[in-house]
Amino acid sequence: MNTAIEQHPAARLAYNRRNVWDLLSAEEKTQTMAFAEDYKQFLDAGKTEREVVTVSENLLRGAGFRDLSEYSSLKPGDKVYTNIRRKALVAAVLGRIPLVKGLHLVGAHIDSPRLDLKPQPLYEEEDLVFLKTHYYGGIKKYQWLSVPLALHGLVVKNDGSSIPVIIGENPLEPVFTVSDLLPHLAKDQMDKKMLEAVSGESLNILAGSIPLGSTELNERFKLAVLELLYRNYGLVEEDLISAELELVPAWPARDVGLDRSFVGGYGQDDRVCAYTALRACLETSAPERTAVLVLADKEETGSTGNTGMTAAFLANAVAEIGFRCSPDFNELHLRRTLANSRALSADVNVALDPNYGDVVEKRNTARLGGGLILTKYTGTRGKSGTNDAHAEMVAWIRQIFNRSGIIWQTGELGKVDQGGGGTVAHFMAAHGMDVLDCGVGLLGMHSPFEIASKADIFMAYRGYGAFLASH
Ligand code: MN
Ligand code: MN
Repeated sequence: MNTAIEQHPAARLAYNRRNVWDLLSAEEKTQTMAFAEDYKQFLDAGKTEREVVTVSENLLRGAGFRDLSEYSSLKPGDKVYTNIRRKALVAAVLGRIPLVKGLHLVGAHIDSPRLDLKPQPLYEEEDLVFLKTHYYGGIKKYQWLSVPLALHGLVVKNDGSSIPVIIGENPLEPVFTVSDLLPHLAKDQMDKKMLEAVSGESLNILAGSIPLGSTELNERFKLAVLELLYRNYGLVEEDLISAELELVPAWPARDVGLDRSFVGGYGQDDRVCAYTALRACLETSAPERTAVLVLADKEETGSTGNTGMTAAFLANAVAEIGFRCSPDFNELHLRRTLANSRALSADVNVALDPNYGDVVEKRNTARLGGGLILTKYTGTRGKSGTNDAHAEMVAWIRQIFNRSGIIWQTGELGKVDQGGGGTVAHFMAAHGMDVLDCGVGLLGMHSPFEIASKADIFMAYRGYGAFLASH
């Protein structure tokens, strides 16, 4: 006999927060855990935007996607992609409905906060060798001290040849680090505001200490490192000027918690949305509307540059696809295609952390395990800089998710006037399309070890898939 307290019929009218774990079947729980294993591999293989593009391109090719240049014409069901400067990527599965009626796009970014080497990084001081950095994106600088860092990137030599570099991922390789001040002598530092406690110019990477030659030799500690770089990579100091060398946490993505319900790792903003959107795209076949995946660079520095979302690459890719669908595809067709499109801006949002509960407004903040987050608006101080999705667009996505059994929740980036942030949503909307922010909640966003719920990751994958497959 059911002894549950009888509820007033009006209780059915209320909106109740859900927890994904409550609603997954045993089989879905297994799928959720298995999906996270693939995702952790993706995080480990892609710690820079270039690496993410390489890994994504390989997965796309494995699923039958071909480069735009390999197609002279396109028809419904064809799978195509284009790689933009090896740092951004657009992929599409051609739909039955003509392009000008609009596309369904999911756009995520694949760059993450990190420490970049300066063009002239190398110097010695007090018998130690250091590398100067300029941080990329919004970081809390103290989080990058006293942690093992790996160097990823490439150096393009004077002759144009490119030397790939990854040092510090293999346990047999050395790592790098930025030293922190011992607490015994940190009295003055501890009295400072957190913002000023660690200066940007003090984020110097420890890189060596064995000198070369005799004590009369100038800069013999620095020269020893230069000699190593020449011996191992054929590099001279000037080559570092045409290089992109990025320091990222050297650890792999790991399960977190006794129940293994979380993934902890570097770069989940926004590779958690990039990977789930990529997997959804890989599994999209013969959609009604052309399904498009956008993996953009430079979001963390404002989406500028020719691989960022403010650039022409998305419109260019759609124009190339349009021309291959019908040779009379013109600028007007392109504008109609973009303006008639609907997009999910797939980026992470804050999940409620009870340790920092006072920075959010609990009724409107997402929870870990609460499902895929719909974020109607972002912005700061009175929604400044927001896309603020139209009610019609929110309703339309809500309908798709409800119809497809996707567990979703709403989110907001902090309480009013606490701070805020933005995504690529407004740049996509500038083409005329309807855009809604829709992504995974994180704890410790922009830290070297961000936390996501495996349940939310799985819901993102299923939710993006349902959107791409919808009419
Ligand atoms: Mn992001
Ligand atoms: Mn970010």
